[in-house]
Amino acid sequence: MELFNQFKAIQKKQKAYGMVLSIASWDSNTEAPKECFPHRADLLSIISGESFSLAVSEEYQGVIAELLNRMDELDELQKKEVLKAKKSLDKIVKIPKQEYVDYSKLINLSQRVWEEAKENDDYDQFKPYLKKIIEAKKKQIEFRSDREDKYNVLLDDFEEGMTMELYDQFFDAIKKDLVPFVKEVLKKKKDEEDAFITTAYDTKKQKAFVEYLMDVFHYDYNRGRLKESVHPFTWNTHSKDVRFTVRYLENLLFSSIFAGIHELGHALYEQQIDEKFDMTNLNGGASMGIHESQSRFYENMVGRSRMFWEAHYDKLKSIFPEQLNKVSLEQFYRGINKVDESFIRVEADELTYPLHILIRYEIERMIFDEGVDLDELPAIWNAKMKQYLNIEPTKDSDGILQDVHWSAGMFGYFPTYALGSAYAAQIYYTMRDDIDFDALIRENNIKAINVWLEEKIHQFGSSKKPLEILKDVTGEAFDPKYYIRYLKEKYSELY
Ligand SMILES: [Zn+2]
Repeated sequence: MELFNQFKAIQKKQKAYGMVLSIASWDSNTEAPKECFPHRADLLSIISGESFSLAVSEEYQGVIAELLNRMDELDELQKKEVLKAKKSLDKIVKIPKQEYVDYSKLINLSQRVWEEAKENDDYDQFKPYLKKIIEAKKKQIEFRSDREDKYNVLLDDFEEGMTMELYDQFFDAIKKDLVPFVKEVLKKKKDEEDAFITTAYDTKKQKAFVEYLMDVFHYDYNRGRLKESVHPFTWNTHSKDVRFTVRYLENLLFSSIFAGIHELGHALYEQQIDEKFDMTNLNGGASMGIHESQSRFYENMVGRSRMFWEAHYDKLKSIFPEQLNKVSLEQFYRGINKVDESFIRVEADELTYPLHILIRYEIERMIFDEGVDLDELPAIWNAKMKQYLNIEPTKDSDGILQDVHWSAGMFGYFPTYALGSAYAAQIYYTMRDDIDFDALIRENNIKAINVWLEEKIHQFGSSKKPLEILKDVTGEAFDPKYYIRYLKEKYSELY
């Protein structure tokens, strides 16, 4: 259809801009020297401006509107492409351009202020910016829709189909079943011989082990790259270009191993998406939550299992004989699954992690749904830490100022982290019913795991919605009971 070709031509142009901006951002995070940024931001803003104008152009809006009237002439995938384009368009088209420009300036500035405030442990320094960001977000939602439940709009932006109602059920289950369990586990922890966790490991050798893991997980080097960056991340433009980063810290061997496996999980997902989606808007993973389910599946269910290290511990020991020769496999397994109270989300273990997210969810909900007084936030944060984890931060950098997200306007994002782990658990039990998971991991047959996930999840890219994927894979709607069951089974055996 001629009209659809016109639609594809505009999309292709958008993709071209998108690729340039995306490669620039990969470069910013891995290679670019720090003095290049002012000129670079200036020049890149021209490309972003062009890209924005194209995305809201009358021609493009007209094409989409007409296609929506002629949907019966399109095949199933074409329909999905049009609907997705319409949804993206609706998110931006009603917001006045000046509002956009002001907002991106505010965000750029806020992130710098946040960094300083965090360094100075000074919430009051960040508060006026936080207030402006929240006001801007609320205003944007008003431009987009007349919905009263503003937080639901934000939740849906990051995880289509998720609402406060569904998240409340999820977090209520965590509060009811997991919080008491975590408290019991924390009471049982005792001093173990685990100095090997924080001893020094040569970073070049750590890199060698991460490269070994890339082979173990069948990462395709011809369609990707590994680099270093301060915060590990995965980057992709389509299934033929999927890169990721890790960082190597001498006294934190586990950081490079598990952040490495985590990012490999994201990367495998992207590499296994059917190439027919490469040049469409249905490329890339289905959602934040589904993406995180894959990274956490590989990191925790595979990487932190006993079976995995039955297959790979000898290799690690051969690289670090001095540090590990006297450490048994069992000690090592306990070390990588050590539970501890901690203030900082990104350092939290698998068991206490969802409680960190619970706190952020409840506070975001108060901000957007109840209109909490921003002066109160640090105290509310600390009280919730006390309530759920029994520790109380003494400085804001250990509390409310620790994460970058809010300074970047990303409200509604945090819950997807916990949701991803919960999806992963539900998928995990389905997989175990279908294939001999333990034996495959023990035999170092990760390929069979990859194939299973490719067939059930990865190949579809974002042509299916997150809750639809979960239903198709597991035969059930999302149910947090699997996540609680998984954590209880694993940690009652350990503690
Ligand atoms: Zn991740």
